[in-house]
Amino acid sequence: MKKIINRGINVVTITILLLSIFITTYFSYKDKIKAQEEFIVSSLGFLTYKEIDSDQLIKFKDSFDNINLLLKNTDGKVIYNSGNNKIKVKAYEFDNNDLVKKVNKSYIKDDYNLYAVKSNDKILAIGFYSQSFIGYLLSKIHLILLAIIGVYLFNKYLTYKIHSDILSQYKDMFSSSKNFSKFSENPKKFLVDKKATIEKLQVENNSLKARILNIENITSNMEEGFIYFNKEGKPIIINEQAKALLSLGDKVSLDNLIDNEDYKLALRQTKLLKRGKNIDLDLKDISIKLFIDPIIEGEINSYIILIIDDSKNKKAETMRREFTANVTHELKSPLTSINGYAELIAMGIAKDDDIKKFGKIINEEGNRLLNIIDDILKLSKLDEENLEEGRVSINIKDVADRTILRFKRISDKKKISVVNKLDDISIRTHESLFTDLITNIYENAIKYNKVNGKIFLKYEMDKRYINLIIEDTGIGIKKDDTKRIFERFYVADKQRTRTFKSTGLGLSIVKHICDYLNYDIKVESKFGYGTKFIISIPYK
Ligand code: ADP
Repeated sequence: MKKIINRGINVVTITILLLSIFITTYFSYKDKIKAQEEFIVSSLGFLTYKEIDSDQLIKFKDSFDNINLLLKNTDGKVIYNSGNNKIKVKAYEFDNNDLVKKVNKSYIKDDYNLYAVKSNDKILAIGFYSQSFIGYLLSKIHLILLAIIGVYLFNKYLTYKIHSDILSQYKDMFSSSKNFSKFSENPKKFLVDKKATIEKLQVENNSLKARILNIENITSNMEEGFIYFNKEGKPIIINEQAKALLSLGDKVSLDNLIDNEDYKLALRQTKLLKRGKNIDLDLKDISIKLFIDPIIEGEINSYIILIIDDSKNKKAETMRREFTANVTHELKSPLTSINGYAELIAMGIAKDDDIKKFGKIINEEGNRLLNIIDDILKLSKLDEENLEEGRVSINIKDVADRTILRFKRISDKKKISVVNKLDDISIRTHESLFTDLITNIYENAIKYNKVNGKIFLKYEMDKRYINLIIEDTGIGIKKDDTKRIFERFYVADKQRTRTFKSTGLGLSIVKHICDYLNYDIKVESKFGYGTKFIISIPYK
């Protein structure tokens, strides 16, 4: 930039300087020539004022050695010649009237001036070389050079001033001093380079945007949560699944993605070791598997985070563990009891009366064991989910009537009155599963009912569902327990387990059957007053 400014200033100022030197020198040269001529003319007048005296001429010549003098008679005889014979006035004739005459230059050299005067019978001529304009100019060359150097130095200073004044206005625009010095050295080159860089970046940016869009499309259909963070930890892509799984707000960053110490530790390790890290996290509502993967190009360039909802697996795992523990316990307690009584009988310790009593207990416990095993088998069958489709058309009222009849002996024993308000409604379903479903709920309605209690079987219809209701006036279930009664081996009141011969598996089977048949099941209960199970069966 300096060069450009300097060149501009130099061209302008040195042109002006040279022009002004040329013009002033020209006029001063003209003045000088004029003064010279005036001097010669007045010298001629002075020398011819009186009788021309040769001695005077010689003195005059000695005083001005750049002139030549010639004195001759009108008849051509030379009286005095200053010597070098440069004055060629021989051919010239003066008129009598002429006093002083500038001799026609056609016969003499251009830069030679000749003035002559005729006085009486003599002619006096003065010749001299006048300096040419170029010569005059060259004689001033030292002054010209001095002026040019002066102007040049002044220009340098001026350039520096202008340059720094202009640049100071742009300095703030540059983040690095390196860029600023590049700009100040050659702004055009700098800007052209920058333009090329920007164009290149724009092309890269566009292709990056297209790639991001592509990835967004792909990841939006993923079951897993996907987040792509840039180097600074700012999210570039977040798919809907990730937002839903982590309940993400607007201000997400890599560092505050999850408020969890394990996550923070894993992230620190990833950054430090530049290696991917997988962690299992149990958050407030869900369990997730998290894969943190840095994308490395020399340094870490960006991060990909994959989130998999592991809640189901975690829950299933916990349930499996609890189930195994429970099965063992549930099978062990009747067996221990059977073993104990059988041992007493075998050792002959039991009296005749006791043998009968013990035999009854062994029989009951054996039945309980069979019930449990039966229920476990049903559950595992349902777990396998490979039951044949086998849907047939059945009448709900018929299934209910058959069930009521099957348990009539037990319900009568408790003096329970059963009211079947169901109509002949046909549905297509899996017959044995549907019967199991009704049986389990109905059996509980008797089991957990009070003596002289009531059981109602009824239904309500809405646009999409037949809501089958089995309601009892029994002991009811506490609010906290209603949430858990469908879990395997869950019994609401452990104290009474013995009395009711519970396995804690009946409602678990019910829930499984409902899931399998695509029914919805709800329980409403008032502790001490009764319970209502509502099964919503979709129909076309
Ligand atoms: P079980 O009846 O063998 O204990 P279930 O899974 O059928 O196992 O029932 C789980 C628990 O739910 C029961 O132990 C009982 O506490 C409660 N429950 C189920 N049905 C009723 C009902 N109709 N009235 C009161 N409590 C019930």
